[in-house]
Amino acid sequence: MSALPDRPQPRAGVMSIDPYVPGKSGSKTSGKLYKLSSNETPLGASPEAIAAYKNAADHLELYPDGGSTALRDTIAQKYGLDPSRIICGSGSDEILSLLTSAYVGPGDEGIFTTHGFLVYKIALLAAGGVPVVASETDFTADVDAILAKVTDKTKIVFLANPNNPTGTYLSFDEVKRLHAGLPKHVLLVLDAAYAEYVRRNDYAAGIELVSTSENVVMTRTFSKIYGLALLRLGWCYAPAAVADALNRIRGPFNVNGAALAAGIAALHDDAHLAKAMDHNDHWLPLLTTEIEALGLKVTPSVGNFLLIHFPKTKGHTAAEADAFLSERGLILRAVGAYGLGDCLRLTIGTEEANLHFIASLKEFMSRA
Ligand SMILES: *Cc1c(COP(=O)(O)O)cnc(C)c1O
Repeated sequence: MSALPDRPQPRAGVMSIDPYVPGKSGSKTSGKLYKLSSNETPLGASPEAIAAYKNAADHLELYPDGGSTALRDTIAQKYGLDPSRIICGSGSDEILSLLTSAYVGPGDEGIFTTHGFLVYKIALLAAGGVPVVASETDFTADVDAILAKVTDKTKIVFLANPNNPTGTYLSFDEVKRLHAGLPKHVLLVLDAAYAEYVRRNDYAAGIELVSTSENVVMTRTFSKIYGLALLRLGWCYAPAAVADALNRIRGPFNVNGAALAAGIAALHDDAHLAKAMDHNDHWLPLLTTEIEALGLKVTPSVGNFLLIHFPKTKGHTAAEADAFLSERGLILRAVGAYGLGDCLRLTIGTEEANLHFIASLKEFMSRA
């Protein structure tokens, strides 16, 4: 008889998952800190969302609406969607995990791209699936490379559009070409966490594709432009059959009531959303130009963050820049885990943070 283990053992593969490492919060002992490492909005949440959140404090004893009905109705109204096909989650991370556990089993394959969002790999491994990496071109997802990776075992394809941490995107024509090339049983997940920031006529978050097909899901989040990252709130728009599957496996009260209330209020505050868009529209090109003027390469971004490439020359590496900027209270995101060891990711911050960043980077680049 084979010896049984003397303590509980996680399923095969669980212990080989590298835990997700979030952006640093900073460890400077004195002076102001500028957290530019997690793509959070510098404007904060809508005052109306904050008020709704505080209101929720009066009834912490009550279970929330397990169907997220009022939030789904508000989303449906705002985007012209069928509310029965919207699923809300505790952050879009939960939605990504739910989709993976519903559609990927042990040995099944899931595809994402070289510098794709790391949560996809974790979700796949957690489900016992096999992560398959498709190469990128110019730090951008490559439709042909993704399609070339499809096998009989492929169950899901993740595309962050725009992608984090690169900031690049695929045009809607390219997304449609990707969809057209996939077998009908493969689920295409369009992660549109940064959709509100994109200013490109050829971009679409994917609503039309979800509406007209059976195998496309679009995920969205309240963590980025809406400034509700603390509350964990996301949603997806899915074909009816996919929504049905997710509703069977999600927790019965998977979204907390404070998040539901704040999310609804945030969706009603168009002025706050417009302010956040304007702020990004102003600073994204300006920061790109300023950084490039210092001789550094910046991957063209349509999000609220920039991928900055540093040289390998001693004195000016990404690791040295990270240390130098940290000392000045500027916390950027090291992206070595994404295979981008020579890069740092900068989130667009407040005016004060952005100006301090430019001045500090200038100082860093001009030192011997
Ligand atoms: C930030 C981000 C999300 C959002 O995650 P939440 O769980 O909703 O906070 C999803 N996808 C990408 C690519 C992101 O960068």
